[in-house]
Amino acid sequence: MADPLRILSIGAHPADIFDQSGGTMAHHRDQGDWVGCVVLTHGARVHDEIISEQMFHMEQVPDADDLTNMMNERAEIKANEVRAACRALGVEDVFFFGADDSVLLPDKPTVQRLARFLREQKPDVILTHFPEEGGGIWNPHAATGQIVMLALGLAGSVDPGDRNPPHRVMQIFYWGCGAASLPSKVWDARGGYYNDLFIDITDVVDKKLAALDALASQGYGGEYARKRIETSDGAFGTAGGVAYAEGFIKANAETHYVLPVTDYARQSARDSDHERMARYSYRIPTR
Ligand SMILES: [Zn+2]
Repeated sequence: MADPLRILSIGAHPADIFDQSGGTMAHHRDQGDWVGCVVLTHGARVHDEIISEQMFHMEQVPDADDLTNMMNERAEIKANEVRAACRALGVEDVFFFGADDSVLLPDKPTVQRLARFLREQKPDVILTHFPEEGGGIWNPHAATGQIVMLALGLAGSVDPGDRNPPHRVMQIFYWGCGAASLPSKVWDARGGYYNDLFIDITDVVDKKLAALDALASQGYGGEYARKRIETSDGAFGTAGGVAYAEGFIKANAETHYVLPVTDYARQSARDSDHERMARYSYRIPTR
């Protein structure tokens, strides 16, 4: 058996790590790997039922001090939901970076802070946003992917004041959902990226559902969670020949001693059309 891996999932907003890679994280916890999460921004502006929902229909929003206090309160509620979602997946270590979600930029202080964190935590594997999601210009997911890549570069070297030695990761898996899902904006036309890896999450899709249900203030629970899992993980599952899957784009080509033909490929090649259809037609019973 190989040594346990240290896997770090880094998302821009509170929900990203869960809807992009919740099932994959649950699998790695089950097999004894360390799984940690970083939530880069407080995310109070994103899909929040008070900040982005109620205030949208107001004549005037509260003054600066009141609004700041409210956003801090909402950020704390979201952080608690994130902790509950982590528990649903068996993940214990979650780190809140608390970056402002107004205009997220790959700036030097954020990059340096994350680089120090990487040298300290020494992850082997990174899961994060594709740095060119949505064309890589205005998109906070892309900015996060860029912050992570810059931080990984810096973490591979020393930084005066940080006593931890340089650190390098083994592999980076970008989230396919967002970078290689249904193109719907002019910026997506620059892409052409595709998922080169699917993780079959069918056996833990109920855990992922529980994690999304925990993100109530975000509006991610209930009907949205079910629709999201069917349309996104279900579509990736069909593409991967299973009921539900999470899609990834590998940063680095892999090196093997012999050709990597997976158990899934062997099975799929021997199944009839109807056997394959039966496999990906399974739907999780919910409510
Ligand atoms: Zn997000």
